[in-house]
Amino acid sequence: MPEVVLNSETDWTGWRAATRALVLAGVEPREVFWAVGGVPVALPDSRGSFAVSRSLVALAGQAIQAREPERFGLLYSLVWRAHAGEAVLDDPDDPDVRLARRLALAVRAEAHRMRTHLRFLPMGDRLLGWYAPAHYVLEANAQLLARRFPAEPFSVITPDSSAHWDGASLRFGAGLARVADDDTLCAWWEAHEPAILAESRVGTAVPEAEALDEAPRPLDEPAIGPVVFPIAVASALTAARREAERCERCTLCGPATQTVFGEGSADATVLFVGEQPGDQEDVIGRPFVGPAGQLLDQALEEAGIDRRGIYITYAVKHFKYEPRGRRRIHVSPSPEEIAACGIWLDAERACLRPKLLVVMGGSAARAVLGRPVAVTRERGQAMRLADGQMAFVTVHPSYLLRVPEGEAQAREYRAFVRDLIAVRDLVDRL
Ligand code: SF4
Repeated sequence: MPEVVLNSETDWTGWRAATRALVLAGVEPREVFWAVGGVPVALPDSRGSFAVSRSLVALAGQAIQAREPERFGLLYSLVWRAHAGEAVLDDPDDPDVRLARRLALAVRAEAHRMRTHLRFLPMGDRLLGWYAPAHYVLEANAQLLARRFPAEPFSVITPDSSAHWDGASLRFGAGLARVADDDTLCAWWEAHEPAILAESRVGTAVPEAEALDEAPRPLDEPAIGPVVFPIAVASALTAARREAERCERCTLCGPATQTVFGEGSADATVLFVGEQPGDQEDVIGRPFVGPAGQLLDQALEEAGIDRRGIYITYAVKHFKYEPRGRRRIHVSPSPEEIAACGIWLDAERACLRPKLLVVMGGSAARAVLGRPVAVTRERGQAMRLADGQMAFVTVHPSYLLRVPEGEAQAREYRAFVRDLIAVRDLVDRL
């Protein structure tokens, strides 16, 4: 069985070269074994060339950045079939095409999410940021940032690898698996910067998700640039986050993977509060990165709220769940658990002093208002809290995912966007 060893998880050049050689050599998809890292294996000596549609190349360029082990073979199979004369992309129900499109969509969403969530700290001669992307989108996003902000040296660290732009070249080096707080990141950078930069390598170009978006973006849309997080506020939040990581005020810390603290702009005037981390947030350690988070991002964008300007957190910082087979099923936190976790939300409020708290769902509303709240009855209302801050009640985005697909779900989503537009208008008046 022919083995292809790619240089990295995003070795687009290597995958293309191998695909071309193997297709020309007549090697069927089921015969190829794809691997990443290790000793390169010689490819079949094949001559000639062939072309496939630009749409298929674009689809493969994005889907190859998905964190899906089978993607190399899947995409090879699509090219193999296209070379054999099949109009593969013309059949929307083809399972391979559907999967490839789903992967590409997830990559595009994650690339956008990373650009909107990434925060930078000023660190010596550059900006320094850490992010844990759900897919392999670092290279593509680093290319985009370097192109848009050529005079702004930066380093972006992720668990997989890191990207370093010095104003002239973009290099890639070692990553950092977990970052407890900003101080840890800065200390790690100070200790490892010379070695990481010395060992970094120039990367090969990866298709940028944005450049290949099916719907072109308006030309006048503002560029997403580095968001610099002021050190003073960062330190206060960092101290609270560090404490929360060791919290054992209730039993939820036992089965959960980690504390998921809030994140966002230090200048936020609006603080969004959800119920608790979900399955993906528990693993990744960041708030609203799962399906509910993606829906929230989409609704925020439609409502004209800049995700970079808000802070987002949970009423309860550990994932409460019930194991069911290999799945972990969400369980709502009890009033006692919400009360126990309130000190961390209070700490975030004290650091940020937001003008408005958007409480999403019953648990968040209970945490902020201190009483049981019937969300359907009180949604859309702005109310003054004892400390002068305002609260606005709406549904939790995960509720929208539970509404049966179709008209009902679309109606609920539109109502949620209307609530967010009301939030936007309210903030303008505060
Ligand atoms: S859920 Fe909140 S109170 Fe309970 S252990 Fe976790 S951080 Fe502490």
